[in-house]
Amino acid sequence: MRIAVLSGKGGAGKTLIAVNLAAAAGRSAYVDCDVEAPNGHLFFKPTHIKKSEVAIKVPILNPLLCNGCRACVDFCRFNALAYIKETVVVFNDVCHSCGGCVYVCPQNALSEREIPVGTIQSGFSKGVSVYTGELKIGMPSGVPIIKKLLDAKDLKQEVYTVVDCPPGSACTVMESIKDADYCVVVAEATAFGLHDMKMVLELVRLMGKPHGVILNKWIEGEASELTETCCREEEVKLLGKIPFDSTLGTLNSNGEIVARVDDAYRAMFSALFETIKEEVKG
Ligand code: SF4
Ligand code: SF4
Repeated sequence: MRIAVLSGKGGAGKTLIAVNLAAAAGRSAYVDCDVEAPNGHLFFKPTHIKKSEVAIKVPILNPLLCNGCRACVDFCRFNALAYIKETVVVFNDVCHSCGGCVYVCPQNALSEREIPVGTIQSGFSKGVSVYTGELKIGMPSGVPIIKKLLDAKDLKQEVYTVVDCPPGSACTVMESIKDADYCVVVAEATAFGLHDMKMVLELVRLMGKPHGVILNKWIEGEASELTETCCREEEVKLLGKIPFDSTLGTLNSNGEIVARVDDAYRAMFSALFETIKEEVKG
């Protein structure tokens, strides 16, 4: 069962929820797909670390063979190639590694080379297999790292996998939720959080994913109630509310997993996990 946890912006509590759901699940996997700023491992502090590099293939030109026909430029739908000053220029940042230009070149003037874009790391923390992807600084897209993370052979053997998605609704988020059985949308229970929640709800609906909402930093009052009313109006399952609580805030900012160190929060996240399991079963 793959559960994706996502939010419209950073700081809404996505990692807090994802980490604690994985911890509450007992034997499970936690996958940090927030590859531009992965921080789940700071809570899990995994041991037995294995690390590997992720590379993508981009075309490279042999100018001696190129006759300037521009077939490669015309083929590339991503505008990753241009013919400038009588040579082919490759823009690695927008290349999608499809290999098509190499295939269509009549002169065999293009070949492929690998460039590293980041790393993936795996380790263990009290029954949880912890996977982390990290994008190299300056690299344009985390999608290849997320693909590799979620395709890991060991991951397929896990009964429960919790995916900590990147914030927002970009292509990295779509890649992260693509194979999810259920999406948990985390939103701040504020008027500002309402906008982000609606944006992410639109995405999960577009992708046809079953979903529910967790409202974080809940305080009794008009602003928080607005978000609850929105869930009712949008006919979205409200999975739970996480209180705006100093104990939780302190433990979390100290890098503790509250479901492991606090009985009340352990019970709360276990109950949340059971609710999600029931939702997945339908
Ligand atoms: S590999 Fe594909 S995306 Fe990259 S430059 Fe060639 S045609 Fe364009
Ligand atoms: S298709 Fe080959 S020969 Fe034609 S411009 Fe591109 S690299 Fe040069």
